[in-house]
Amino acid sequence: MPDSTAVDIASLDTPGLAAALEALGQPAYRTRQLVAWLYARLAPDFEAMTDLPAALREALSEYCTLTHPTLVETQRSADGTRKYAWRFADGTVVESVGIPTGDRLTVCFSTQAGCVMGCTFCATGRGGFVRNLHPGEMAWQVTLVGRDFGMRASNAVAMGQGEPFLNYEATLGGLRLMRSKDGLGIGARHLTISTSGVIPGIERLSTEPEQFTLAVSLHSAVQATRDRLMPGTRRWPLVALRDTLIDYTQRTGRRPTLEFALIAGENDTPAEVTALADFAGGWMCHVNLIPVNPVPGTGAARPTDVRVAEVAALLTRRGIETSVRVERGTDIDAACGQLTQRHRTGSG
Ligand code: SAH
Ligand code: SF4
Repeated sequence: MPDSTAVDIASLDTPGLAAALEALGQPAYRTRQLVAWLYARLAPDFEAMTDLPAALREALSEYCTLTHPTLVETQRSADGTRKYAWRFADGTVVESVGIPTGDRLTVCFSTQAGCVMGCTFCATGRGGFVRNLHPGEMAWQVTLVGRDFGMRASNAVAMGQGEPFLNYEATLGGLRLMRSKDGLGIGARHLTISTSGVIPGIERLSTEPEQFTLAVSLHSAVQATRDRLMPGTRRWPLVALRDTLIDYTQRTGRRPTLEFALIAGENDTPAEVTALADFAGGWMCHVNLIPVNPVPGTGAARPTDVRVAEVAALLTRRGIETSVRVERGTDIDAACGQLTQRHRTGSG
């Protein structure tokens, strides 16, 4: 039995697992075996890892704990999207979403339980912050959703609950477990991080060797509006955000997406759209317009389809690459911004 000082195996990223195995006198290739057992093959315990030496399995069982998240609830949308609530060993609950498209499966996973940023239109932001997730807790969400669909996830997006760059190390560790051929084998370009605009995180990501995809939640290019909609982002002003993003494109050669949830009468006005065009103009980005998803109590309403199309046309005329997101899973509150902490009391 593990004692109370035992390490939660999910808290270790790949270098952490390698260091633990090295401390147990193991050769380097054992790390790959362990990653495969944990995140591809979903071994329920160390004993099940039959190609590891018995003494190692015993040592791992003594020094580490391995507890898969348990499924609290699944909801299925008419469009095939499924939403999951998972409970970790300490009782913390998070949600993930599986979105099938033809032979592809995109998994939207959470990086934190709750979020400190407090965006007014987002169900997660309204619920407050609980804790950071571990790398293995992120990878497990993706593997478990894939298993439920009977297929491997082809894409994973850090667009569930939480601000990934306020849990930078663990998020990168989680993405690397997903990318690893021993883990989930998802190509870096098919792994996306969405940030509300945490500048130090964007800068750091531009120095990483992998070609992870970056999305930034903009939602307004007018400082006063953005301060109101996304109060947690006030310390990273728009002018600095734009400079950081331009620098990111120059360093990486990659095109970030600017996510813009259109809220009627709030950020779809002519002045807002002009500011958005000015922000996005002249550098390599892509604007993704998302008609806001309903979240009770926020009062944020969707613009008409006509207005959404007008905004898209205006941006395109200004030479900005623009798309309109077709939301999935709205009927089960699985769409962007609809993930909550409602399960967190543990009542399920
Ligand atoms: N915290 C990160 C990632 C998770 S949110 C971030 O904010 O980027 C995923 C996306 O959904 C973000 O672009 C977020 O701004 C957006 N979003 C939040 N609430 C929404 C809502 N009610 N309707 C549409 N998009 C929403
Ligand atoms: Fe947090 Fe993103 Fe929701 Fe804002 S939109 S509260 S940053 S999860």
